[in-house]
Amino acid sequence: MTGGPSRSAARVHGHDPVDAHDHTHTHGPRPDHVHLVRPAVVEEASPAVPVVVEHLHFRYPDGFEALHGIDLAVAPGEKVAIVGPNGAGKSTLLLHLNGIHEPVHGSVRIGDLVVSRETVRRVRALVGLGFQDPDDQLFSPTVFEDVAFGPLHMGVDHGEIHGRVERALAAVGMTGFETRIPHRMSLGQRKRVAIATVLSMDPGVLVFDEPSAGLDPRGRRELIEVIRSLPQTMLVSTHDMRLVAEVFPRTVVMDDGRIAADGPTARILDDDALLHRHGLERP
Ligand code: ADP
Repeated sequence: MTGGPSRSAARVHGHDPVDAHDHTHTHGPRPDHVHLVRPAVVEEASPAVPVVVEHLHFRYPDGFEALHGIDLAVAPGEKVAIVGPNGAGKSTLLLHLNGIHEPVHGSVRIGDLVVSRETVRRVRALVGLGFQDPDDQLFSPTVFEDVAFGPLHMGVDHGEIHGRVERALAAVGMTGFETRIPHRMSLGQRKRVAIATVLSMDPGVLVFDEPSAGLDPRGRRELIEVIRSLPQTMLVSTHDMRLVAEVFPRTVVMDDGRIAADGPTARILDDDALLHRHGLERP
């Protein structure tokens, strides 16, 4: 298997991490089966945490202004879909939530923590970030080691690790896969294990970029069940409007680095003119 911890930092689209030495942000949860949540998982999960983004502006090092004043408040446990055309700024926004990007103006708050260089380690323990390609998050010889990596890196007591891994795998329907080799599993299974790598850190917020991309109908259905079952606050960027309609009560439409609309998903999906203006389609 390639790489060690440093591989997990390599993703991030080549953006400038606030702290390139802290790799915990790449580890996150993954989806799979139906019958996913056992009561123990719900009982022991960290409390969901609110997210508040205020007046957020961001410019890439080449001078490109990718975000022009984002205001967004997400309540604990709320599930929000972020939609919009390519280049709208969805990923740029999401990468602020765990300090991979640093605002030029404005602020991002995760619970009581304002995201900054000083807080970034604590923020990354609270915010689980899942990337579109699970292979950006899986680099160990076994599923167990991949799911254990985040908590071990955070200094979680060794005695707790087995329980953490077991709960995270149960939450994504992957119990029994501990000794399997991640890179020999199906995309749907790898995606679920990648989500487990985030869940094992006990995050209060989950952030996913295009989680359903590339999945076959069964893999997609299993992912939907996982997302529905997780109690964390969730912000998910996606082009999959059926996923949006089925899972997310609230939808934010982004375009050109701004929020173009924010409201109940049913209302957004009913507004043909709005969808058309931003290159979106009804599911
Ligand atoms: P989305 O996720 O909605 O497709 P992104 O957040 O990836 O959009 O990109 C928003 C804008 O920022 C796009 O115009 C993109 O070209 C630009 N961008 C993304 N990454 C970089 C970068 N590293 N340097 C300069 N511009 C970038």
